[in-house]
Amino acid sequence: MSQKRTFYPYEEYSIKTEKSYHLMPFNFHRINKNWEVLINYAGDFLFVPTGTAQVITLKQLIKNSHPDLYADLIANFFISEEKIHPLIDILATKYRTKKGFLEDFTSLHIFVTTLRCEHTCEYCQVSRVTQDKNAFDMKAEHLDKGIEHMINSPSQNLTMEFQGGEPFLAFNLIEYGVAQAKKRAQKSNKNISFVICSNLALITEEQLFFCKEHDILLSTSLDGPGFLHNKNRRRSGNNSYQLFLKGLNLSRKILGNDNIGALMTTSKLALDYPIEVVDEYINLGFENIFLRPISPYGFAKSNEKKTKYETEKFLEFYKRGLEYIIEHNKKGNFLVEDYATIVLKKILTPFQTGYVDLQSPAGLINSVIVYNYDGYLYATDESRMLAEMGDYTFRLGHLDTSSYEDIFYGKKAQEISKYWLNENIPGCSSCAFQSYCGADPVYNYTSQNSLVGYRPTSGFCQRNMEIIRYLFELMINDVEVEKIFRTWLN
Ligand code: SF4
Repeated sequence: MSQKRTFYPYEEYSIKTEKSYHLMPFNFHRINKNWEVLINYAGDFLFVPTGTAQVITLKQLIKNSHPDLYADLIANFFISEEKIHPLIDILATKYRTKKGFLEDFTSLHIFVTTLRCEHTCEYCQVSRVTQDKNAFDMKAEHLDKGIEHMINSPSQNLTMEFQGGEPFLAFNLIEYGVAQAKKRAQKSNKNISFVICSNLALITEEQLFFCKEHDILLSTSLDGPGFLHNKNRRRSGNNSYQLFLKGLNLSRKILGNDNIGALMTTSKLALDYPIEVVDEYINLGFENIFLRPISPYGFAKSNEKKTKYETEKFLEFYKRGLEYIIEHNKKGNFLVEDYATIVLKKILTPFQTGYVDLQSPAGLINSVIVYNYDGYLYATDESRMLAEMGDYTFRLGHLDTSSYEDIFYGKKAQEISKYWLNENIPGCSSCAFQSYCGADPVYNYTSQNSLVGYRPTSGFCQRNMEIIRYLFELMINDVEVEKIFRTWLN
């Protein structure tokens, strides 16, 4: 029996070849005029020449003409030859890993045990220079109730962080809080670690030996060389820097170098001194530096004229600082920039970080909660600073009257939850950098008077979009930079 074959014109076959793949969900971003980056929902990325995203989405990519690219696109879940990618479960696992922080729920519990402080920093939101302990110290009964909520959190590994003011001014509350928390954690079989945020100005040997005994980490502040630090961190005598150095040396002697970390805040004055700031950290033997912009909260907001600057200015400062740090590493020295490392961990590994300001769902409530000195609870540290300005939008309840459910699953939390996913807020929902970035309704509200926010004029968006783009560009331009970045991840 003879077989009848129909021969279609050539175009028919070529169209079939071109359309023989399906698009998987992904976005792209132009890195520079030569390169763009494709990024899928799990954060996997592929550098491709500019214009490739268009060719792929128009289904004009011909398998045989670009076999390597075609294979990469399939392997990295950008396209599929079948309607459902045969390895879709692997993509689901990657996505679940990126959102793994949700399994722990609230693991960071910040206790503002006192607002008292002997500093009056230019950008500080909350400190009070006062001797009146009763007015601005947390009551022991509130500390107990806060610890109870902390222990009730589903997280197995908890962090209790003491903040102020200057928490060491109420050292008795630290001693009490650590003892109570340890007792409760042991009873509930939970692991607990402690952090104290301190300016180190008045720290004593007795306090440090207490920290050593309880494995407490110290987080301190260093804004740069003396002239900068003293200008930002005011105290009578204008000797904040000198006292900081004394406190740092004593702390390192008793606790060891690794148990003290420092954060910097980029004041308006600091913008002209990125190299000097980095050099200060190098000279003092730090292996990490966190180049942080000023926050638009509290006194920094009311003091706006003096403290505010354009995001572009910060980005210039950040890039000069980062390039200097990279050069330092190229010479065989080790110094990590923390913000870049947080973002790079999201880009270069399957994992998330514990950094609460770059999460989706946002870190507020999901990862962090704040117990204020007066018994009120807030979604984040920034929310309580907002409350200091008389705005209680993010106040979640009070330790005397609210149950765990009221606070963590109550009406307020539910309302905020509508705005805490960058997967569903305008602008972010189609952004290629979504899985590396986060949502921050508190920032949106503070800077744009809207929980949703408006990305085209958002400082948060502008800063993150450019830093992420820039990190990609650095890696494309210089393979040595990617190698350095990878050493930072551990
Ligand atoms: S804030 Fe900006 S950079 Fe971040 S995900 Fe949203 S649109 Fe992208």
